[in-house]
Amino acid sequence: MAADSQKSYAVSISLPDEQVFRNLKNAKHFAIDIGGSLAKLAYSSTLQRRTSLVSDESSEQDGPGCIYQVSEEDEITNRLHFVKFETRLIETCLDFIQRQLKGSPMKDKVIKATGGGAHKYRDLINSKLGVQIDKEDEMQCLIQGCNFLLQNIPDEAFSYHRHEKPEYKFQGVNHNVFPYLLVNIGSGVSLIKVDSETKFERIGGTSNGGGTFWGLGSLLTKAKTFDELLELAENGDHREVDMLVKDIYGGEYESIGLTGDIIASSFGKATQPHKDQESPFKEEDIARSLLLSISNDIGQIACLHARMHKLTKIYFGGYFIRGHPLTMRTITFAINFWSKEEIQPLFLRHEGYLGAIGAFLRGAEENESGSQWGENYARSSGLSSTQQSTNRDCKRTRSTTFDMLELDKVNARSHCPVLLNPDTYNPDMVDLTKDSDAREYWLDCFSHTVDKTKGLAIKSQANSLDVEERANKFKDSYLERLNGLKENPCAYGSLTVRFLLDTSSHLLRDFLFTDPYSQQKQTENELALRNLPSRLQFLDSMADTDRPLNLARGVLAGNVFDWGAKEVVKMIESGQEFGFNQALDKVEARPWLCDYFDSWSERLNRSPPHRCAAVFCDNSGADIILGLFPFVRDLLIRGTKVILCANSRPTLNDVTYNELNILVKRVSEICPVIDKAVKEHRLIPMESGQESPCLDLRLIDQSLVKAMEREQTDLIVIEGMGRAVHTNFDAKFSCESLKVAILKNKWLANRFGGEMFSVIFKYETPSTEDNS
Ligand code: ADP
Repeated sequence: MAADSQKSYAVSISLPDEQVFRNLKNAKHFAIDIGGSLAKLAYSSTLQRRTSLVSDESSEQDGPGCIYQVSEEDEITNRLHFVKFETRLIETCLDFIQRQLKGSPMKDKVIKATGGGAHKYRDLINSKLGVQIDKEDEMQCLIQGCNFLLQNIPDEAFSYHRHEKPEYKFQGVNHNVFPYLLVNIGSGVSLIKVDSETKFERIGGTSNGGGTFWGLGSLLTKAKTFDELLELAENGDHREVDMLVKDIYGGEYESIGLTGDIIASSFGKATQPHKDQESPFKEEDIARSLLLSISNDIGQIACLHARMHKLTKIYFGGYFIRGHPLTMRTITFAINFWSKEEIQPLFLRHEGYLGAIGAFLRGAEENESGSQWGENYARSSGLSSTQQSTNRDCKRTRSTTFDMLELDKVNARSHCPVLLNPDTYNPDMVDLTKDSDAREYWLDCFSHTVDKTKGLAIKSQANSLDVEERANKFKDSYLERLNGLKENPCAYGSLTVRFLLDTSSHLLRDFLFTDPYSQQKQTENELALRNLPSRLQFLDSMADTDRPLNLARGVLAGNVFDWGAKEVVKMIESGQEFGFNQALDKVEARPWLCDYFDSWSERLNRSPPHRCAAVFCDNSGADIILGLFPFVRDLLIRGTKVILCANSRPTLNDVTYNELNILVKRVSEICPVIDKAVKEHRLIPMESGQESPCLDLRLIDQSLVKAMEREQTDLIVIEGMGRAVHTNFDAKFSCESLKVAILKNKWLANRFGGEMFSVIFKYETPSTEDNS
């Protein structure tokens, strides 16, 4: 490689190393999108992780019946990584990849390749990596990547509003995306009308795109890299270079709706002769004028094509925009101006990876089906116009060139079938980007609990030599993320309590703390199981009329035990005896803060009973064993089938699906009703597809969705503060719903107009009005 290109390589993008090409050694499948300016590589790898719980029925450790055992079991996570680099450096990058892969048999591997470079560099890739290259159609890959992001990654798309706070409005998950116009701004620009997954057509294009900005910008200024140019543009004043309407008319041109500040002629002022040899125009002003000129034109062309084809949504892909506010503002302005706000410009958080994602998915479809990918917040960088220092391992400032995106493989998921309006459903109660008081409170709250989480993580792997180091890295990364969100709350979409909780779980996992609460959960489960017979006896001994309230109070008391609630943790750890009976005493007396108990109990007295209830459980220990199982048992006695749903993977002290299966067996040994129901398939444990203390009903495990449909679920029960208050409090269902939670956070309780341990017991039926 020539010395000068080596130099600019180091300047423009970081040298590829293990930090950037993460876990490349374990790469399994590859896809590459080689464009005119940038090449984007996608590869999946498997990560070995330590989990701590296995079922071992023969264990006599804690007496007969105990089936828990701590063990170091490897869990395999499939992760999808993306890396981009300048196309002209492809040879160096292929060499690097080849060195990393040494030893792994690449010979039989196939690499999916798309973009113009798939043709141009075919032989080079083949000779360097020895892989077979499968070319994929560029447009097809772009569309597939775009559809995937819109349908699977929450808040992928957003609109930009210059004068509003926050400036971004996110679009959730959109299952009805068609038809739309995709404007891919790469080196050049392509406009593609997309009617369905398979029907699309390139209806336009322009050669004035990202390459033009970069190329012309390099000729007109001393900036060489794209980022330098953007920085110049950010600090410039285009009015020094552009000829405005007022420069020509002396003011506005009112009759045709042109204000004086509108650009009449880009670079128009540069036509005026200047005496000196030196240009009187500042590089900053030139760069800004260029950016505006290109963005305005693309906006207008996009708008005209959308109009012609009666499309009302335009998504922008390609690496040109890069989440840059000035570019988004200009494109949005142009489209609003020309369409009179009838056409909506929408931007994408992962705009640059559409082709690479599409190519990868095409390969994945051939290798396996039935799986999806979810965003891993630990290793994905957020939307930001400023450079952040996220490279925590080596503590250097990350180049914005390598916007990071990592996705984890999950089971196929789709929306919960009893959601009333899946397309308008928003899981979260509060959008912290809009509510600054709530934002401040929750960001502080999570900053304060990070030490506690760190301590627990250390305790959970006390024998590991590097445990302190990993736990400290977890803490630093989480605090860094929280601080970043203070500055830029919209970085990952709508900021929510759910996101903050999930980020903590993702980071813990990233530092190999797969299940820090494992021991705690087991201890609490054992304790609760010992108390279950007497709890059931007590409930059976009471009059039928008293039972429903006691069952409800039991669920609430169980829900007091929560290691995610800092005030509760303080109380439990204070040394005083705190068991189920003490928790029952804490439960607010009726009338509860949100009290629909009377209509619930009336409903229970009416026949027919519910056909099938889908019950989403929350915490381990007393919560599920002494609270939820007796409640479920009562439903079973009444003739209702129950699908008991638990998280697919661990988070806090929430029950996981694997643990639930064990618990169902254990409870069956104690309770004949449960035992019989399991045998008759009237009690069906299932995984929810989630790994969060909250519940996003847009992304439910597809087997659960099918089971809910098959069993004609007519009741959904959602338990706990995370699932029924932080999320889903306002969710509307097409069947009856019951949301039960105890408020274990003083601030939140006060916001609801209640106190600590106030009760949410929200029973609703689908109203005729809502259904129509
Ligand atoms: P292509 O596939 O044609 O390379 P991309 O979608 O990758 O197109 O976009 C390339 C354009 O993105 C460049 O021409 C440039 O305008 C812009 N760009 C954004 N960030 C960078 C960067 N760090 N280095 C180079 N170009 C960048």
